Amino acid sequence: MSVKDIIQKDPDGLVARAFRFAERAHSGQRRKTSEPYMNHLTATAEKLSEWRLDDTSVAAGLLHDVLEDTSVHIDELRRSFGDEVTLLVDGVTKLGKVKYRGAKAKVENLRKMIFALSQDLRVIFIKLADRLHNMRTLGVLPPQKQKRIAEETAEVYAPIASRLGMYELAGELQDLAFPYLHPKESRWLKTQIAEEYGVRRAYLEKIWPALEQMLHGATIVPAAVDFRAKRAYSLYRKLLRFDMDINKIYDLVALRVIVDTTQDCYAALGTIHGHWPPLPGRIKDYIAMPKANNYRSLHTTVIGPEGRYVEIQLRTKEMHEENEYGIAAHWLYKAATDGQTTQPRWDQQFKNTLQWVQQLKQWQEQYRDAEINPEDFLSAMKVEFFRDRTFAITPQGDVIDLPQGSTPVDFAYHIHTDIGNACAGATVNGQFVPLNHELRSGDMVEILTQKNKKPSEDWLSFVKTALAREHIKSALRERTRTSTLRIHPSKAELKIVAQNRIGLLKDVSATITQSHVNILDAHTGSQPSGNSSMIKIHCETADRKKIEKLVLKLKKIRGVKQISYQLL
Ligand code: MN
Repeated sequence: MSVKDIIQKDPDGLVARAFRFAERAHSGQRRKTSEPYMNHLTATAEKLSEWRLDDTSVAAGLLHDVLEDTSVHIDELRRSFGDEVTLLVDGVTKLGKVKYRGAKAKVENLRKMIFALSQDLRVIFIKLADRLHNMRTLGVLPPQKQKRIAEETAEVYAPIASRLGMYELAGELQDLAFPYLHPKESRWLKTQIAEEYGVRRAYLEKIWPALEQMLHGATIVPAAVDFRAKRAYSLYRKLLRFDMDINKIYDLVALRVIVDTTQDCYAALGTIHGHWPPLPGRIKDYIAMPKANNYRSLHTTVIGPEGRYVEIQLRTKEMHEENEYGIAAHWLYKAATDGQTTQPRWDQQFKNTLQWVQQLKQWQEQYRDAEINPEDFLSAMKVEFFRDRTFAITPQGDVIDLPQGSTPVDFAYHIHTDIGNACAGATVNGQFVPLNHELRSGDMVEILTQKNKKPSEDWLSFVKTALAREHIKSALRERTRTSTLRIHPSKAELKIVAQNRIGLLKDVSATITQSHVNILDAHTGSQPSGNSSMIKIHCETADRKKIEKLVLKLKKIRGVKQISYQLL
């Protein structure tokens, strides 16, 4: 149902009220495309409705920019729409502050942070719908912004969509980003395949009536047919594997037939093969053996009329929507069986079928051993994953993954040991905080360093990570060692090995006195080797430079073989 229909059906309902509220709040605002701001909000809400999410999501989709871009305060939003809508809008607003700035190594942390910040998966759906519309209108932004947003889409949001099983969306986001990230390749692809697309599509349209006839003969009535063009970005990746030879790509345009039941899928496959011979090795039964991402469909490539290859895909409506919409499709099915369109309920048996929970679970298990055990589907919808982690961001946009309860000192050590050691202060989201301040996911943390600053012992009482603890301890040990030398030393001991001769000790003491160093005491003793002596002198100085100069002078004294010194 379109947003307009929802509003017409219930003019005082949640969606209608959200629409009017947004219209007022954004009145006079325009998008960079110069169209009214409301177009962006309607497009976002429209997508959410197309994914058949609940009215709360659609309403939040309409309101998703009021906190960020208008003077509406969160309390006003809560008074007007309640906690649930507010939680969703606030979540989307927080995600808006998370920016990908090209740290590929840490991009997985960024994806995790987005889940951790969302608290409710519907926040992510809204963000994805928002991003989709932004990508469609990306052309009007300055090139640098285009590049950044396209990169963020390709590296962060498309993978998130795909992790939620929303492959259609993931593919579309990749395609929208492709021309901005690889302009040359994308142009090349367009010119190379535009014609070929047309030719193949025309052929499929031509043979479709014959195929439909054939299915009717087997009493199968297709619910829908679709000429599905392969996505540009995935085609490009496939071409790279096939010597850029378009003739080796059989599924450039595929014939997608939707039938009523799983039996119909197999019956249709048999019927088609009876008329058009299949290509060996090209029959794929993803119904009996779904892909790892839970994609279900039958695929075959047959030799059609005029001896041309045709890829045909067969699936039920349910499989189709699941392939396209991922977890959002599950929402839709439960709601449909209950005969209601809003407030879906989730039951045990349904929960068990959910692939995406499995996926997120696996994702999370790589991460820590604890099991998530969602009590029911709704609580699974509340994103509890990563609840015990804190994801904080550097000013450069790197996401630092820390245990819950971590402080700016932990953060500093996770960036670099030197930054931890020299940490003198911190700001969180621009505000000064004490070093024992507890960080929260999404915090932007800046560490102020000071040259020659050393860690303080009381840091050990509040740091959360073993890494920080170890570095602090080792820096403290280092300091204890050097500080005994620097603060306490007042004496130096010289050990001089020299050949015995008369006047040696006098020469030595004269040299020391000339250097303005007081001698405290001196001992001599014979070296076991014979005619050498070892003179041990304690002087009243701890000035290393002074001693080193002195040593050079002493070395020039006749008979002196070896000198060492030590600060005491
Ligand atoms: Mn927006």
